[in-house]
Amino acid sequence: MIGAWCFIDHFGPTEQTDGMVVAAHPHTGLQTVTWLLEGRVEHRDSLGTIQHINPGQLNLMTAGRGIAHSELSETGPESLHAVQMWLALPKEQLNIEPFFEHQDALPETQLGDLTAKVFVGEFGGVAASTKVFSQLVAAELGLKGEKSAKIPLNSGFEHGILLIHGEITVNGEQITQNQLFFAPAGPAALEITAKSDARMIFLGGEPFGEQIVMWWNFIGRSHDEIVQARSEWNAGASARFSEFEDRIGGRIPAPELPNVQLRSR
Ligand code: MN
Repeated sequence: MIGAWCFIDHFGPTEQTDGMVVAAHPHTGLQTVTWLLEGRVEHRDSLGTIQHINPGQLNLMTAGRGIAHSELSETGPESLHAVQMWLALPKEQLNIEPFFEHQDALPETQLGDLTAKVFVGEFGGVAASTKVFSQLVAAELGLKGEKSAKIPLNSGFEHGILLIHGEITVNGEQITQNQLFFAPAGPAALEITAKSDARMIFLGGEPFGEQIVMWWNFIGRSHDEIVQARSEWNAGASARFSEFEDRIGGRIPAPELPNVQLRSR
C-alpha cells in the first residue's frame, strides 16, 4: 500500500471497439477513484447515480458498507485510456453509507516546467475538495520535452509515481512506461528528469497503520467479513447491494473463494 492507496489499474490506451463493458458488481470498505486520460465512460450505481466522466474529471465512489455499480465506455473517435485507484477506508468509516461524487473542475498548478492537475488532497499550493478519510494526495503530472522538475513531498507520506507515458528517471533511477516508482516516507522532494513528453500519476498518503483483507472487489478486516459480503452479493438483490438499471444488463457473480483463510496484509 501507499498510504491508503491499495490498488491501481491502468487501462488503455485502446480502441473504443475493445472498450470497457463492466457489468454490475459490488464493492465494500473502499473508495474507487477514477481518472480519465482519454475517452468517455458512463458510471451507474445502486444509489441511482448516472454520471459520465471525461478526461480531467474525477469520479469518486465511496462503497462503505456496500454499493453495486457498472462502467461502460462510449464509442467515439478517441481511444479509451484511464486509471482507477482504490482507497482502503479506515476502520471508523468501513461501514459508512455509500455515496458518489463527481468533480469536473479540479485545481491545476505549475511548478517550473511541471504541470499538475490535483484530484485528491493538496499539491503545489492548490487543493482538491475530494472527500477522503485519511491524509492523501493524488495528481496527474506532466512534463513537456526534455525537462527536469523537483517534486515537493510531504515527508510523513509514502509516495508513488506511475509512469503513464514517456521515459523518466526519478532520483537517477530509470522508470519505464507502466512502472510504479515507490518512495517510503522520509524525503522532502524527488527529482524527475524526462527524456521527452511525460505523463505520470503521483500518489501519496500517510502510512495506513491498519492491516486489511482484500479479495475480489471487497475490503474488510477479516476472512468472515469477506465471506459475508460475497454470499450477500451472490444471493441477488439486497438492501446492501440493491438493483439498478444500466445499458449493459446482467451482473458479475463473485468467484469461488480459495480453500484457505484469507489473511490480512
Ligand atoms: Mn468496480
